[in-house]
Amino acid sequence: MTAYETVIGLEIHVELATKSKIFCSCSTTFGADVNTQGCPVCLGLPGALPVINEKVVEFAAKAGLATNCRVANYCKMDRKNYFYPDLPKAYQISQYDLPICEDGWLDIEADGTGKRVGIIRIHMEEDAGKLTHNDKTGHSYFDVNRCGVPLLEIVTQPHMNSAAEAKAMLENIKEIMETIGVSDCKMEEGSLRCDVNLSVRPIGQEAFGTRTETKNLNSFRSVVNSISFEEKRQIRVLETGGKIIQETRRWDDELGVGYSMRSKENEQDYRYFPEPDLVPIVLPQEKIDALKESLPELPAIRRNRYKTVYGLSDADARQLVFVPAFANFLDEAIAAGATPKAAANFLMVGIPFLLKENNLTENQIPFSPAILAELIALIENNTISSSIGSQVLAELFSQKASPKEIIEAKGWSQVSDTGLISQAVAAAIAENPQSAADYKSGKGQALGFLVGQVMRATGGKANPKMVNEELKKRLS
Ligand SMILES: [Zn+2]
Repeated sequence: MTAYETVIGLEIHVELATKSKIFCSCSTTFGADVNTQGCPVCLGLPGALPVINEKVVEFAAKAGLATNCRVANYCKMDRKNYFYPDLPKAYQISQYDLPICEDGWLDIEADGTGKRVGIIRIHMEEDAGKLTHNDKTGHSYFDVNRCGVPLLEIVTQPHMNSAAEAKAMLENIKEIMETIGVSDCKMEEGSLRCDVNLSVRPIGQEAFGTRTETKNLNSFRSVVNSISFEEKRQIRVLETGGKIIQETRRWDDELGVGYSMRSKENEQDYRYFPEPDLVPIVLPQEKIDALKESLPELPAIRRNRYKTVYGLSDADARQLVFVPAFANFLDEAIAAGATPKAAANFLMVGIPFLLKENNLTENQIPFSPAILAELIALIENNTISSSIGSQVLAELFSQKASPKEIIEAKGWSQVSDTGLISQAVAAAIAENPQSAADYKSGKGQALGFLVGQVMRATGGKANPKMVNEELKKRLS
């Protein structure tokens, strides 16, 4: 049997976080009542004239600078002509031969191996409206609100060879776009979606196989699953003597299958021509240089700093940098005096859990980084144990008080009173003679059980270090 290699290129659509649309002043707020955010411009009514939103150009240039692209001093918008019911104008304003950014790259890491993935271009365009199909009534409904919402399309080179690499690339794009503040990248709201171009070829063959394009994947899971489905399908077709047809495909996430949607259009089908209602876009080099200067620390550099300066592991650094809201919080907590590792742990475990419990997003941690620093200090100076620390954290989600105030009000201060601890330890040994005997006969894990008994008896307030020492003293 022939061994095959998969070749993948991505087209990533990033919805920009501007307040208004790309060519009119309509709001871009997600989740507004249907058909409340439209005007003659985004509906393309005769005589309406588009004006480009300067913020879109700025965001596009920043996206290019953050992904090592060359940003053009001169570019233009073009008309891409096609009819679809979600596109009342019957054309989309996009960019054709002169995109704003070209020739970039990102370094990714997948399955422990690093790789540089090229970016062919980044261009600006407008989104179409939204269609909702109701199977029960057999009707389709159209919502204009999304017409004219600004998008970036990031087109990569076909440099990826596995689902893991495609996922890593998409993750890199997501964390960069969020970090530089051009998009919220909420995949569940469609602000980050991805088309996968995929072909297979026998290993050693230079020419690419025929590729298919799977459209509109809006979760990392569907990107990974659709790739593994499509590469298997193509190999099966070739192995049984068939031919791959160049086509556009859809992915059904629930069923876990891809299916053909239409044979792929060629560029000439769109009859691109320069958009006659918009002047070309001129970006002086000084403006581009100033935008580059204004970029915040990028994820790759931040990850490296977390490892070298904070001493975090590679996995921890990756997890934290992936959520810029958490990374920013971590930096501020550390600036306020928190120990890096302790603050990182709260941001990887306790805080995400409580945000979810309370239906809050990553940007809605209800207390300041300085408060987290204070909580960590109270644990480290043994005012409270770490298990009480978790309870204080939960309280911080439900009341506006400092950790100190919460501890006082609840009477949670750690007991470091030698007499009390000694009493509790004696009681635990008396109540669990078997465990005491086990420990004496060399079974070290019996100690952990006895510590647990003392902690429980003292409501989690005993100083665990002192409990440990006292137990060892009495059992030696
Ligand atoms: Zn409008």
